[in-house]
Amino acid sequence: MTGSANSLQHARNYGLFINGTETETEAVSQRFCPGTGEHVATFASGTAGDALDAIAVARRTFEERVWSRKNGPQRSHVLLRLAELMRENAEYLARIEAEEVGKPVKLARGDVAASIAMVEHAAALAQTASGEAVDNVNPDVVSLVVREPAGVIGMITPWNFPLLQLSQKLPYALAAGCTAVIKPAEITAGSTVEMARFCKQAGVPDGVVNVVTGRGSVVGNTIAASPDVDVLSFTGSTEVGARITEVSAATTKRLSMELGGKAAAVVLPDADLEQAANGVVFGAIFNSGECCVATTRLIVHESIADELISRVIEIMGRVRVGPPLDDDSEVGAMIHEAHLESVLGYIEKGVAEGGTILLGGNRLIDGAHASGFYVEPTIIDGVKRGDTIFQEEIFGPVLAVTRFATVEEAAELVNAVDYGLANTIWSAGIQTAIPLAKRLRSGSVWVNTTLENAPQMPTGGLKRSGYGREMGTAGYEEFTEPKTITLRLKAAEPFFGI
Ligand code: NAD
Repeated sequence: MTGSANSLQHARNYGLFINGTETETEAVSQRFCPGTGEHVATFASGTAGDALDAIAVARRTFEERVWSRKNGPQRSHVLLRLAELMRENAEYLARIEAEEVGKPVKLARGDVAASIAMVEHAAALAQTASGEAVDNVNPDVVSLVVREPAGVIGMITPWNFPLLQLSQKLPYALAAGCTAVIKPAEITAGSTVEMARFCKQAGVPDGVVNVVTGRGSVVGNTIAASPDVDVLSFTGSTEVGARITEVSAATTKRLSMELGGKAAAVVLPDADLEQAANGVVFGAIFNSGECCVATTRLIVHESIADELISRVIEIMGRVRVGPPLDDDSEVGAMIHEAHLESVLGYIEKGVAEGGTILLGGNRLIDGAHASGFYVEPTIIDGVKRGDTIFQEEIFGPVLAVTRFATVEEAAELVNAVDYGLANTIWSAGIQTAIPLAKRLRSGSVWVNTTLENAPQMPTGGLKRSGYGREMGTAGYEEFTEPKTITLRLKAAEPFFGI
């Protein structure tokens, strides 16, 4: 897709951000909005050498204790200033996310607000988090368990929530006193470079936050393989996560893996069907379905299935699919043409394997949709546990429906996938919902709500959805190392030579 000469003048230009300085490179990549085809950004294509430079800067800055020697309240003040800058530029950041990802600006505004909340939460942790004293083991001994910054953090992020995913990592690492080398997805890097600029403006010293844009196989691979990176916090596909695990193995660095998902919503017979129907639609098409915790499977009790499904069809049928900057749009464009084709391919496969399309199923090409990669919100009924669309991550607005007869069967169906990120239960009875929630093998379970998150709540996966947690105190601790310092208060009796 090519942009017009006029739109080129308005495209944002981003260099590499290393040691507080932004530099342009000869090799660049262009980003065209997937919803309109307009040229929206030019990104530097970093090399392996650029990544090594950034890692060396982050290492040196960490060893010189430029940032970690500041006390918690000082780091907190800088983070609060960062949050303020983000708030002052909230509409601009939302526009970047909408244009580069193709998501509705109304959702992008929510991403920015949630990201600000995370920076503020990290600022609170910088003020309050501290180590512990173990003094109940021996009256003559006290151990101080201090929390030290984990060092240089590599951060590799995906394209679906560029700012939000970064905000689940960077502020917490900064709160802990770490330095960072960040590699955003190559097609949606704008907000990450903007954040590096804001960090500098807020008072984060040069060399603490470094961004190298470019390809995963080049820049990301270099970060994974580097012995100078202490922790690698990765969010992306299970396939790439596995490759990173292999590449980084020789360095024994600590990994945090936020990978793919295949979330289900279970609707039990006693559920409030109107609430459940609204929740299922929200979960299925939020962020155009390009969401790791999207409700991609509806597992519904056979006694209420027809009624619930007709409500879901009615609500989903009213959803407005449109250009990202249109305030009325509720579902945007797919990230690029190859992904659109992949989503349409899954729909075809769902039908080929015996499913029935109840809604949607096609690319949208009329009017405002003509210059973008839009797909209709789609519902496919009659999906069985062995089917491809039951098992694989589709990452589009496609809901697969499967019916069940007993709660036992519902639990088995939810768990019958490789992933374990998040699931939802709709039921009025806590005596059914809570035991079921405990049986579901996922890092999060929502009951009578869905996709409801806050910075205080840790999130992460089980099984092939990865390991490690982001946000909450657990997320902060991923960027720290506990060190035990043991003090003897009274001399010990000699052990040898008496
Ligand atoms: P991806 O795995 O293709 O890319 C993620 C990042 O890894 C990008 O920055 C990419 O450039 C980089 N990368 C690619 N190859 C690499 C390599 N060989 N070495 C190092 N880095 C490499 O994922 P994506 O398509 O950008 O994002 C979609 C995926 O992310 C989905 O699977 C989704 O479920 C997952 N995701 C998970 C979460 C979560 O919290 N668990 C959140 C958002 C997205």
